[in-house]
Amino acid sequence: MTWSKLKETIESHDSFILSSHVNPDGDCICSQLALYWYICSLGKQAVIFNTNPVPSKFHFLENSDKIVTDHPSKKFDVLVILDASNPGRIGWEGYEEIASYIVNIDHHKDNSRFGHLNIINCDAAATSLMLYEFFQACSISYPSSIAETIYAGILTDTGGFAFSNTDKEVLRICAGLAELGADCSEIYRKIYSSYSTQGLKLRAKIWSTLKLYHNNRICSMEISTEQIDNLGIFYGDIEGMSDQALIGSDVEVGLFIKYSEDTTHFSLRSKGTVDVGKIAQAIPGGGGHTCAAGCTIDLPLDKAIEKMLAMIKEKLG
Ligand code: 5GP
Ligand code: MN
Repeated sequence: MTWSKLKETIESHDSFILSSHVNPDGDCICSQLALYWYICSLGKQAVIFNTNPVPSKFHFLENSDKIVTDHPSKKFDVLVILDASNPGRIGWEGYEEIASYIVNIDHHKDNSRFGHLNIINCDAAATSLMLYEFFQACSISYPSSIAETIYAGILTDTGGFAFSNTDKEVLRICAGLAELGADCSEIYRKIYSSYSTQGLKLRAKIWSTLKLYHNNRICSMEISTEQIDNLGIFYGDIEGMSDQALIGSDVEVGLFIKYSEDTTHFSLRSKGTVDVGKIAQAIPGGGGHTCAAGCTIDLPLDKAIEKMLAMIKEKLG
């Protein structure tokens, strides 16, 4: 029903702008590229605009070089926001003016349904998987490059098929994508074994900040935005550190912290005993999923950690 509405919307308009959340991750980029491919395949005009650039590890994806970070000056018929639960997440102003019709395709449970057409599936492991469903539902066949793109989006949003959102349906869909030409080991290598030398050195520094709290049940690692800026590090170089914060056998909640003088951003991960999405949502502007979420606390590092640890400990008991 909603998928046919999306198809109709695309068919009945000419120009589209696609956007996603700040610091776009694999799922943002892949879901955008999949939809971009479809719109372009109909001979229509599409622009992908994100606040932050594509991390280099995703440069192998077809058309990733078409994604722009300069705010387009022209207007479009339709704005499609993918993988972002509310307008604040896109990180740019004037979204209501850039197009007269807004579509939101997302899988975050805290989605505020801000579009004219909202296609929200909180049970979907990834927004990219929702694009797979769109193509299936509307019998749209696509080339192997798009199978690869959708596969990469699902791979990254399931933490390499490690998070609890990985189930037999996800694996079945991915097997289908492999049959359509997605090269699983090649995609894994390109995304997960592709850090720059500078990125590796930075990771070593981040590892050295590791701290354990609450009987080793909470683990944190941190980096200042000043270090990120000084080293010219891209988001892609530090992405995944939050997953690393969770690898200790006793650890139930992992934190990766990016801090400046008076604001502290937390990337939260959980093995499932605690719903970190709920914790993040308790902070204004925060949100995410049960096992992966994020929020910014407007306090300096020490005070922010204190506040975050108190919230987690309350849930852990
Ligand atoms: P990551 O830790 O990988 O950046 O993000 C994990 C999940 O939490 C993603 O679904 C992401 O969209 C969400 N997330 C991360 N930071 C924030 C934030 O500051 N606000 C909201 N609403 N969601 C966030
Ligand atoms: Mn996602």
